[in-house]
Amino acid sequence: MTKIPMNTPLVELDGDEMTRIIWKEIKEQLILPFVDLKTEYYDLGLPYRDETNDQVTVDATNAIKKYGVGVKCATITPNASRVKEYNLKEMWKSPNGTLRAMLDGTVFRAPIIVKGITPYIRNWEKPITIARHAFGDIYKDTEAKIEGKATAELVYTDENGETRLPIYSYNENGGILLGMYNTRDSISSFARSCFNFAVDTKQDLWFSTKDTISKKYDHTFKDIFQEIYENEYKAKFEELGIEYFYTLIDDAVARVVRSNGGFIWALKNYDGDVMSDMVATVFGSLSMMTSVLVSPDGNYEYEAAHGTVTRHYYRYLKGEETSTNPIATIFAWTGALNKRGEMDGNEELSAFAKKLEKATLSTVESGKMTGDLAAIFEGDAETLNTKEFIAAIRSNLENLLK
Ligand code: NAP
Ligand code: MG
Repeated sequence: MTKIPMNTPLVELDGDEMTRIIWKEIKEQLILPFVDLKTEYYDLGLPYRDETNDQVTVDATNAIKKYGVGVKCATITPNASRVKEYNLKEMWKSPNGTLRAMLDGTVFRAPIIVKGITPYIRNWEKPITIARHAFGDIYKDTEAKIEGKATAELVYTDENGETRLPIYSYNENGGILLGMYNTRDSISSFARSCFNFAVDTKQDLWFSTKDTISKKYDHTFKDIFQEIYENEYKAKFEELGIEYFYTLIDDAVARVVRSNGGFIWALKNYDGDVMSDMVATVFGSLSMMTSVLVSPDGNYEYEAAHGTVTRHYYRYLKGEETSTNPIATIFAWTGALNKRGEMDGNEELSAFAKKLEKATLSTVESGKMTGDLAAIFEGDAETLNTKEFIAAIRSNLENLLK
């Protein structure tokens, strides 16, 4: 069989622990035998990030800016115990944080739906993609505990001098206080990434905030979205027959629960944090969520939503058998290969990506899966270890490619 050629390299970002093991297996078993794979490889595994003082993360992100498409393995975000475990020079920042900041991107998370695993909400037939604005709000707030009688004011200074707005006067029992911010630039980039992704995937876009209560803060999010929609995207949406609509978050929650899915739901930072866990849980499992970071100027970075599955890795190191689910990581590869194919007009590559997805899902539907899915599968499930599961996918893929 001749391998499928590639024109432009994919930017490949390797990672840590169990997902690093799975990464290699996916490449060797499911991609390299079929595709003349071209990648520009960056090792974001924690030891090499430490060795390069995290420069490798910056270099990899610049490569994504250059080529347009990257695929990333899960990585460790160091905390105090990781600093000890890996004897790190510093507690390096989260690679995903660096990628997001440098690409000015928005993360879109979508569940992978497979027959035999019914969402807790039965009418959710199609995926619901959550777009979370990952900048500002309470994640960068300033907070205070007020211990007694006090007066709080909001103060800001601009070219016209100082503006002071009263917040609250506390009694002797005190209370709590927080200040937070967002920026027109960040909200605009978020809006453009959402509109682009809706056009890209031909899905409706919903956006919701609490604008009725927050008449300046949340209302500005709503206004910026509306303005950008009308000036830059309305014609394109109408041409594609897709819809943008804004609704109050309370109303959105009710509509989302009653919907059949198949749309993008854009949310502010905190709302997106909470709702993405809710949506992942309803659809069944974190190991079945994909994630793509999209920049407003059209660069894409694909990955699994889960982490490096540390508990399984420690078992693997002891020589125990592990049944870690590789599906979200496989879909990171197929998402990236498909997008690369689209950008390069390489239909064969995009078609291969679709077939690999189909082979993966049909393996589960035939009753062969990893332990996490076997526990929630309706029907007879045979639990395979990761290697066996990937081998089963490969044999289905070979049949599809005949
Ligand atoms: P995690 O790696 O997502 O794993 C949490 C638990 O979820 C696992 O122990 C496992 O449960 C289950 N799970 C997740 N993915 C699975 C899969 N593919 N197959 C089967 N089960 C799966 O989260 P974590 O343990 O909180 O974090 C581990 C490391 O990952 C941390 O160092 C963190 O910094 C990093 N992380 C990276 C990213 C990223 O790169 N995007 C995201 C999140 C976390 P059982 O043990 O019960 O089987
Ligand atoms: Mg969360």
